[in-house]
Amino acid sequence: MENCLFCKFVKGEIPCAKVYESDKAIAFLDINPINPGHILVILKKHVDYIFDLEDKDYKELFLEAKKVAKAIKFALGPKRVGVAVEGFGVPHAHIHLVPINRGYELNPNNAKPMDNKELEKIAEKIRKGFGK
Ligand SMILES: [Zn+2]
Repeated sequence: MENCLFCKFVKGEIPCAKVYESDKAIAFLDINPINPGHILVILKKHVDYIFDLEDKDYKELFLEAKKVAKAIKFALGPKRVGVAVEGFGVPHAHIHLVPINRGYELNPNNAKPMDNKELEKIAEKIRKGFGK
């Protein structure tokens, strides 16, 4: 889709702190993380609302999220990786994966901007967590 920020990430027209890419999906750090290591997982295909995805794409997205969550867990060592989907910010279906250590930590009110240098440092750590 023409003016979609996430489609521009997919095409590489706008840079993002990417940690993972497959044929169908990418994962990158949220620039306003709830906690360091907060990642968004998206399909390359543009669909706005997550529950409008075809079944096979929906499964694919969640399976990709599972892979990414394992890498976050290995790389950063949180007790859990929380999952959230709202979909109001950018109209391209995305899953939030947030490293958390206690209940109620998955709170968007805790999100704050992080600079690119720090994002890239965390991305580098998480990239090393794949396949472990
Ligand atoms: Zn898009």
